[in-house]
Formats: sequence, structure tokens, C-alpha cells
Amino acid sequence: MKDDFSIKGEVIAALEGVEDPGQGGKNIVDTHLVEQVEVKAGVADITLVMPKGRAREERFTIEDAVYDKVEAIDGVLEVKVKTMTPQALEREQNGEPAPAPSAQPAAAPAARPAAGKASPAAQPQAAPSAPIEGVGKVIAVASGKGGVGKSTVAVNLALALQKIGHRVGLLDVDIYGPSLPTLLGISGRPAVSNRRILPMEADGLRVMSLGFLMDEDTPVIWRGPIVTGIIRQFLRDVDWSGLDYLIVDMPPGTGDAQLALAQTVPVDGAVIVTTPSDLSLIDAARGLQMFKTLNVEVMGIVTNMSKFIVPSTKEEFFIFGNPAEVAKEAERLETPVLGEIPLDLTVREGGDAGRPVVVGQPDSPVTEAFVELATKVAELKPPHADGEGGEGAEQPKKGLFSFLKS
Ligand code: ADP
Repeated sequence: MKDDFSIKGEVIAALEGVEDPGQGGKNIVDTHLVEQVEVKAGVADITLVMPKGRAREERFTIEDAVYDKVEAIDGVLEVKVKTMTPQALEREQNGEPAPAPSAQPAAAPAARPAAGKASPAAQPQAAPSAPIEGVGKVIAVASGKGGVGKSTVAVNLALALQKIGHRVGLLDVDIYGPSLPTLLGISGRPAVSNRRILPMEADGLRVMSLGFLMDEDTPVIWRGPIVTGIIRQFLRDVDWSGLDYLIVDMPPGTGDAQLALAQTVPVDGAVIVTTPSDLSLIDAARGLQMFKTLNVEVMGIVTNMSKFIVPSTKEEFFIFGNPAEVAKEAERLETPVLGEIPLDLTVREGGDAGRPVVVGQPDSPVTEAFVELATKVAELKPPHADGEGGEGAEQPKKGLFSFLKS
């Protein structure tokens, strides 16, 4: 029996075989018509987005081709296609109800025989922003650009939180370069039980990564318009229960993934990783602004590769600029610097060898820096505890507080 994830991969590949008419032979994934793909118990749910002005014939041709290609996949028991306008999609993503005039009943996605009758004003599929059951805090690790050590910080922060007594999960949604399997030295495919995906385990962490679902030489078909669906599935269909923290390794920049995360679950905080170089500082500021716009509290900035300490002489050199510049910028942005991680060869070697420095060199100064960072992150009060938006309506979060008390 094929599991839903492998079927999903085949569905996406099949959609890449559906031509978008009048678009120079491009397929519907490349022309961004595919918004979401979900496969549950063999039922493939596909959401397409097409502007209103699109010719009906073209729409029907596309929908028919989608049904034909997806139905032919071994393991697919049913195909549902829903076609929406960008406006309807935006409304759905904002959790707004469909406008009344068309008086559509709560439209189910079109089933095969009803090709072309897909609802343009579909219902939201799930209540947006419902917390993940059994997870204390969700913390996003983000960066303005790639290569600043975001994934390295995410992994070692997760391990350091564990080291100080928390139960931690790590979710890698860096669509463009999922690196957790390499950093943690794990491979294989997650098991599925009772329709829930079971995270893998590495060094005591529960881990889920896009990397488990892609062969190294598989083209990254999970990008662009379908990012949202994958992230939702990773947050909703993976069994994360019993965690104090879920650390989410985001793709760099400000894009669909950040939006999808913030719209799917309440994010308790974001940690922005930067190096002291000016360019990534500017990008960090942009990331900060984006999280503010999404109403995600930015907990602070981590300065990675802050300095190089010569092991023998303890002399310090600034390789990527002076970390004091980050501190100055952080002050201007009214956000704290949560930690400074030195540039250290053991960090890179540990990453390359699948043995992160916090477990590989538990007594090193770099590990100490990560533990300090984790302690700061853990000390920050839950953002909702100050009653923001309600009369001091503090909502203790199951996983976190029950564990701290035990
Ligand atoms: P990103 O996720 O931002 O793209 P990575 O975490 O993949 O960045 O790190 C990029 C490279 O920098 C990797 O080779 C990693 O091992 C190395 N690196 C990250 N942080 C440090 C550090 N503090 N000291 C030395 N090398 C580091």
C-alpha cells in the first residue's frame, strides 16, 4: 500500500504534466495555477487558482486533464478539484466568509462528474490559526537571506533547549534547501500511523523535514504556489503531541512560507539569524518588519559567526563585521540581541558530519553560547500572557507548563 505522501509526490508530478493552454507549453505548476495539493487516505484534493477572466473552455480543459492524470495514479481513490479566483483564495486565507449574494451552499469541491462546476467561493478548509494540539510554543527561526547559518542555529537551539530540560521538535520547511537530514545525520521516510505522520527522531529531537520526502536528485517540485499546502500538512498531520517547543526552520526571506506558517498556527515568536555584515543586517530588518506585519512577536536577533576566537591565543577577530553593529541596529529596531554565536570550525564540521556541535562538543564554548541562547529564548514570557487582546486572558499551554511543573 502506498502512503499518502508518496501519492502526493506523484500527484504533483502528474500536475506538472498538465499543460496550461495558451502559455507557451508551460505546465500548470509552473504557471502557478496549483495552489494546494492534499492527499488523505487516497483522496486527492487539489485547489487551483484562476483569474476570473479566464476562458471557460480553458478552465474545463485544465480541470479535465487534472482529473484524468490524477485518477490514473495508482493508489488514488478519489479526485476532488476546486477552482478558485485569487480573490476568493485571499478571502479564504484570511478566514473571511464568502460573500452572501451568490448564496452558494457550503460548496464541496467538485467531484469528477461535475467537472467545471467547482465553487469559486469555497469555504475555509480548517479554522485558521488553531494551535497544534499538545505543543507548548511554536518558534520560527528565520533569516533575511541564505547562508547566514539559520539552519545551524535552528538545530543547535533545539538541542540546547533540550539540554536545559525541554521536549523539543524541529520542523524544516526550508523548501529550497531542506538541510536538517544532513545536519542531524538522519535519512529514511517517516512512518504513518492512524493517518498521522510520525516524526523521525534524532538526538532525542522529533524531526520532520521536507528532505525526508525528496530524493537528493529530485527536482524541488514543492515550491511556489504549493508551499502553503505542504506547510499546513506538516503542522496539522504530523504527530507533534507532547512537545514544549516546536522550532521551525523557515526558508530565507519573506515569502509564502512565512505567511502560511503564521496563518496556520499561532506562532509564539520568531528568532532572526544574521551575521554582522551590513547586507544581511538590512535583510534581517526586512524579516523583522514582515513578522510584525503578520503579528508574530519577534523575540530577537541572533548574531551568528559574530567573531573568530583563535583557540591557542584566545585572540578575537571579526570576520563578517563587528557584532556591535548588530547590537546598534537591534536597538534601533527595538528588539534584543538574544545571543552571539562565534565562528567556529567545529560548528561546520559537526554540521557536515551530522553531529551538531551541541551534542558533538557538549562542553565547548560554542555549545555554551547555544545554551545561553536557549536559556534566553525559554525565559521570554509567552507573548499572550500579558493578556494582549483580552482581559489578561492568559492561556496556559499544555505541553510547556505541564512539563515545567513535573
Ligand atoms: P542557512 O540555513 O542560513 O542557509 P546554514 O545553517 O546551512 O545556513 O549554514 C551555512 C554554512 O555555514 C554551513 O556550512 C554551516 O556549517 C556554516 N556555519 C553556520 N554557522 C557557523 C558558525 N557559527 N561557525 C562556523 N560555521 C558555521
